[in-house]
Amino acid sequence: MTQEELFEHMREWKAFVRRHNANIFDVMFKDIDYSLKDNELCSIISDIALFFGLDIPNIKTHCDTLTKIELDSNHENCSELYYNWQLLQKSGINNRDAFTLCMVHELTHLYFKDTRFLLCSNERWCHELATDYVVGIYSALKGIATSKYKYVVRQLPKTLTHPKGVHRADVVEFARECMFRFPWCDVDSAMAGLPAFVYGRQKLLNEELVQCVRDIKEKKDVILQNKPIVIEDLSDNNLLKQAVLKYKNSK
Ligand SMILES: [Zn+2]
Repeated sequence: MTQEELFEHMREWKAFVRRHNANIFDVMFKDIDYSLKDNELCSIISDIALFFGLDIPNIKTHCDTLTKIELDSNHENCSELYYNWQLLQKSGINNRDAFTLCMVHELTHLYFKDTRFLLCSNERWCHELATDYVVGIYSALKGIATSKYKYVVRQLPKTLTHPKGVHRADVVEFARECMFRFPWCDVDSAMAGLPAFVYGRQKLLNEELVQCVRDIKEKKDVILQNKPIVIEDLSDNNLLKQAVLKYKNSK
């Protein structure tokens, strides 16, 4: 083996090792593929839709966030899938595997659009965890690297629609472990493992939901407190309004 061949093997081995454990340096500077064009990205989406037996949604290559899907709940029109490749690359979703997993997440919302999981207090959190669980299943079935996807979602904060990113990254890994234990499973049968993850964290998820609602209420209160007072909008028996009007009339 020549020295060049040895270095090439070492490079491949290092790339293999970091497939599921990348740190920020690896996410931002290693295994990047800026050459992907929109037609290739669209064909990735079509392949995933085909895998899940879904109609291919209308694909829009502009988006104010990283990605989003607008579901056609009334079955009248096509669902619309949006992505912003520039933003995705900046966040760390910068190669084929990472983009594929983002699209698996979005398309799985379409797959589960009529499903009610009823596993925790916030059904929308259940859906996010379920779609990320499928990301884990898909990556195990197709041998796709999860490092960049997990790194990016782990940074995301909790909102009313999305649980804390750490749970999303962990559920990807949880699903992968399930698939290694039961490798003969298809997507539907592997979903049986999702309740174990959610029930294991139910107390924490509930506490975080309460905190999330409290934070939003506090933010609203601060905005209301800082709202300027319009004297004319106050009732006529308000002492402040009476004093201001009296002052204006005396001038
Ligand atoms: Zn989602």
